[in-house]
Amino acid sequence: MKKEFAVIGLGRFGGSICRELSNEGMPVLAIDKNEDRVNNFKNVASHAVILDSTDEEALKEIGISNFEHVIVAIGENIQASILTTVILKDLGVQRVTVKAQNDYHEKILNKIGADRVVHPERDMGKRLAHNFISSNILDYLELSDDHSIVEVKAGKKMVDKSLIDLDIRAQFGCNVVAIKQGKDINVSPQADALLREDDILIVIGADNDLSRFERYLV
Ligand code: ADP
Repeated sequence: MKKEFAVIGLGRFGGSICRELSNEGMPVLAIDKNEDRVNNFKNVASHAVILDSTDEEALKEIGISNFEHVIVAIGENIQASILTTVILKDLGVQRVTVKAQNDYHEKILNKIGADRVVHPERDMGKRLAHNFISSNILDYLELSDDHSIVEVKAGKKMVDKSLIDLDIRAQFGCNVVAIKQGKDINVSPQADALLREDDILIVIGADNDLSRFERYLV
């Protein structure tokens, strides 16, 4: 039977993933080579084991290939992270998500077959920077090297104007794909409805077009 998640590396990042998965009721196997860290997760995860993930035999023994999704959250030790990823893919783990430490690490991980590479510090840095530029920019999500999605509060600049008035597509080359109002999300927003100050626009576009739109919001 397929099991769900295993998290390797119980530092701040891996630990937080482990806690959140458990909070959501997901069974998760917590793995670290450090005994103290593993002990801290005995009551959090459904199972917790001490193991060095660069040891292929040890990973085989716990049946790692039965897990659907393995998250490699080894921090500083890039070599261990790369070796672990290679072993996991060799053993046939379907989905391997790895935390990258820097751009070179990320490149290597992509080349050796990591299914997803995450870069939490860099991504959070980007999000915060956009939020510092304008507090109306609530979130920023990279889709590719040159396209992103931003969440923007309508604020004073857009209040009581409609999407037709704003004409964001013609002005900035970006598209409003949805409007959030409180908990409701409207994926086909009416072009002539007037925006309210607290409405949140979800806008997709090329990075340079989004930058022009963001500058307009400042
Ligand atoms: P963070 O930046 O997320 O806090 P850390 O570097 O503090 O990351 O934590 C990484 C964790 O990964 C540590 O608990 C460390 O013991 C664990 N770790 C490092 N190498 C291995 C390995 N080969 N096998 C298992 N766990 C490892």
